[in-house]
Amino acid sequence: MPETDINVVGAGVAGLALARLLPADRRVHLYESAWDARAVPTVFGLWPPAMRALDTLGLAAPVRALGRHLDSARFHDRSGTVLAGLEDRDVWLVSRTDLVELLRGGLPANVIVHRERVDDPDALPGALVVGADGVHSTVRRARWGRAGAPRRLGATAVRGVVDDPRRRTRSRSTGGRTRCSG
Ligand SMILES: Cc1cc2nc3c(=O)[nH]c(=O)nc-3n(C[C@H](O)[C@H](O)[C@H](O)COP(=O)(O)OP(=O)(O)OC[C@H]3O[C@@H](n4cnc5c(N)ncnc54)[C@H](O)[C@@H]3O)c2cc1C
Repeated sequence: MPETDINVVGAGVAGLALARLLPADRRVHLYESAWDARAVPTVFGLWPPAMRALDTLGLAAPVRALGRHLDSARFHDRSGTVLAGLEDRDVWLVSRTDLVELLRGGLPANVIVHRERVDDPDALPGALVVGADGVHSTVRRARWGRAGAPRRLGATAVRGVVDDPRRRTRSRSTGGRTRCSG
């Protein structure tokens, strides 16, 4: 592998977006341990900075076509007091599966996909290793050991899937200092 090659470990939303953005004159090796696994099709909320990034990638229009615009949202505490709200911003809800498939589609010719797990990032040749391998990152652990390990914050996220995520729906979130449900 030439010294100018770049390794990106992990092909989630971050690794895929980065691989699409790296200079075309660099060979990009994209490693993914679960390439054949489909992402769980829960709704992924894309906020304005994410939409701007997708615009740079030329993917904002297909995301809008596949997703649903979030017309308005309110976050309440348990007593019903509004903590935060938004109206008519460039916020879109899209299936995580659709988003990952869009990001995977038409990868530039300089990106080579390796359907394999990286266990030792230091063994990868090339100029650079980027850890885009998620919350339990092997790359981060190799570089920073336990200092980079995730910490429990005492919060639990529960996800649910409905048949048609594009159906007009209302959802509700309630939050407290340590708990949130919705
Ligand atoms: C319940 C829940 C809901 C969320 N909702 C939203 C939302 O609505 N909007 C939003 O913006 N964010 C949301 N997030 C956060 C969002 O999911 C993460 O920020 C995002 O997925 C991080 O992307 P990533 O590419 O960094 O990591 P990941 O999506 O975790 O991808 C990492 C990839 O690396 C691969 N991998 C891991 N280890 C290795 C290895 N050693 N070798 C090769 N491959 C490896 C994994 O298979 C995976 O595909 C939510 C998170 C949760 C838990």
